[in-house]
Amino acid sequence: MAYEEITALLGGWPGFVIREVTREPGGTPSGSPQITITLAAVPGARRYCGRCGGPVTQVHDVTERRIRELPILDAETWLLVPLARVACARCGPTVEALPWLDRYARMTRRFAESVARLAQVLPIKQVAEWFGLSWDTVQAIDHAAMDARLGPVALTGVRRIVIDEFAIQKGHRYATVIAEPETRRVLWVGRGRSREDVRPFFELLGPERCAQLDAAVMDMSEAYEAETRAHCPQVTIVYDLFHVVAKFAREVIDRVRVDETNRVAQAAGPGPTRARRRVIKGARWLLLRNKGTLRRDERVRLQELLAANRRLWVVYVLKDGLKALWRYTYIGAARRAWEEWYGWAVRSRIPALVAFARRLSGKLPGILAHCRFPLHTGVLEGINNKIKVLKRMAYGFRNDAYFFLKIRAAFPGNP
Ligand SMILES: [Zn+2]
Repeated sequence: MAYEEITALLGGWPGFVIREVTREPGGTPSGSPQITITLAAVPGARRYCGRCGGPVTQVHDVTERRIRELPILDAETWLLVPLARVACARCGPTVEALPWLDRYARMTRRFAESVARLAQVLPIKQVAEWFGLSWDTVQAIDHAAMDARLGPVALTGVRRIVIDEFAIQKGHRYATVIAEPETRRVLWVGRGRSREDVRPFFELLGPERCAQLDAAVMDMSEAYEAETRAHCPQVTIVYDLFHVVAKFAREVIDRVRVDETNRVAQAAGPGPTRARRRVIKGARWLLLRNKGTLRRDERVRLQELLAANRRLWVVYVLKDGLKALWRYTYIGAARRAWEEWYGWAVRSRIPALVAFARRLSGKLPGILAHCRFPLHTGVLEGINNKIKVLKRMAYGFRNDAYFFLKIRAAFPGNP
C-alpha cells in the first residue's frame, strides 16, 4: 500500500506526512499484527499554540509521542508523531495544537470517536477487548463523548414530567428518573427517592420553569408528591395506573389469597380441601394477569377458582374495575364510576379491600386528574426496561454520573 493510500484510508494528519511504515506480525498482546506509522512535519507548515490557538513561529524542540490510530484491517495501528514545543508570545512555552489530536491525548480524535460509537451499542467489556484497551479507558472515552453530545439538559418549555424510581441493587438502593412524557426525553437521574434526593431537579429547573409545570405523573408515594408541590404549587398530580394496580395486587389480592388459603387449611382434613388449598396458593398469576392473555385451560381454572371462592372473585372483579377508572375522559363519568367502585369495595366487608379503598379515596383527585392529563404509563415502562438492559450490559454502578448519562443518552427524546 502506498503512503498516499494509507493517508487517504485513515483520513490524513494535516501538517504531517508519512515517513515510514513498519508492520510487526503478532506485535500486540492479543497476537494481532501491529503497524507503526512514523510521521514527519511538513516543512514550513503553520503551527499553533496549544493553549490559546494563536499562530506561533518559534519552535523550541520536538518530542515524539506514541498515539493510537484507527486499525488498518486486522492490525492495531500506532503513530509516532514529532510534536513541537513552541513558544507563544502570549502563553509562553507549550505544545503545539493539532486539529486531529486533543491536548495530552494518547489517541487520535477519530479513534476516540470510533470507540465511543461502538460503546453506544456494546458493553464496555466487549469494546475494550475489541480495541485492546482497558475498561476504564473505554468508559472515560464514552463518558466524554456523551458529555459532548448531550451537553446540559434543555429544560425550557417543559410542561409535564413523569417521576419514577428504579432499583440500583435488588431491593436495596434506589434512584429516581424524571422524564418528559410527550417526547420520552430523560431530563434528570439521581440517586435515592426521598424528598431531599429529588430536590436538585427542581433547583435545576428553577422557580420560573417550576411555575410553568402543568402536570406531574407519579406513583402514590408521599416524597415525590410533597417535593413537587413544594416547588410547583400550581401543578396537577396524576397517579400512574400501573403503580396503583400493582399496589392493589400487593395489598389486597395477595392478602386475600393468603387469608383464604389459611382459612381453607383450617377447615382441615385430607382430600378435596388440600387440593383447593393448592389451587388458591398457586393462583397469584391467574388473578393478576390480563384475562386476554390467558390460555383456554387457564381461563377454565380461573373460573373454577372464582366460583369456589367469593372473596377472590370480588377482589378480582374490583381489580378490573379499578383499571377501568383510567379509561374515562370526562371527569363527571369518572367520578360516578369511582363512587360505584368505592361502594362495592366498602360493602365487600373484606378488611384489606375496605382499608385500601378508604386510603385511595383520599387520593381521588390524582386519579380523576388522568381525565385532564391522560399521561401514559408506557413511558415509564419503556425507560425502566431500558435501564434493566443497561444494567445487564454491565455498565455497572462504579460511577453514578456515567450510568445516569447513559440513561439520558438512551432517551434523548423524539422530535
Ligand atoms: Zn498561546
